[in-house]
Amino acid sequence: MPDDPYCATPRPADAPAPARPGEPMADCVLCGEPTEYPADAPGAPQCPRCEWQQAQRGACSG
Ligand SMILES: [Zn+2]
Repeated sequence: MPDDPYCATPRPADAPAPARPGEPMADCVLCGEPTEYPADAPGAPQCPRCEWQQAQRGACSG
């Protein structure tokens, strides 16, 4: 698993830059909702809600 070996931050450090106005938005890989990232952003774009949920789940649990 390529999970981060360190304590997760609220927002992934490798999150792509937000899409510029007029750019097509990528769909969230988890729920299919539109994200704030461009469609050609690298990685697996997630909508703000799923990012938040991932951050909660990924937080160090001991
Ligand atoms: Zn989502």
